[in-house]
Amino acid sequence: MPHKKLKIKQDVLGKMVKPKTTGGFVVTPDQINNPLFYEGTVIRCFCVGCGYSTELSDGGAKKLAKIATVKHPINWNSYYFETKGCIVCSGAYQDPVLKKI
Ligand SMILES: [Zn+2]
Repeated sequence: MPHKKLKIKQDVLGKMVKPKTTGGFVVTPDQINNPLFYEGTVIRCFCVGCGYSTELSDGGAKKLAKIATVKHPINWNSYYFETKGCIVCSGAYQDPVLKKI
């Protein structure tokens, strides 16, 4: 049911209050070890700016890897991105770094 899922996603994002980019957030194991929630996503991105964890599609992950100037791994499992700003707090992912879980 892709439509229902999209609706839920929109509802969640629509009600979300934009967090402030304060920085200094530290990723917790829970935020990167849990299975990905959204269908079609391959990797998590943790933002140290606002503390939010988002999920990226393969295309999005490859874009971030390009910005981070790292060769993307064959399998995104056991990796996550860390950024200084994200689509939630800054409208775009900033200074992504690919890290091993
Ligand atoms: Zn953020």
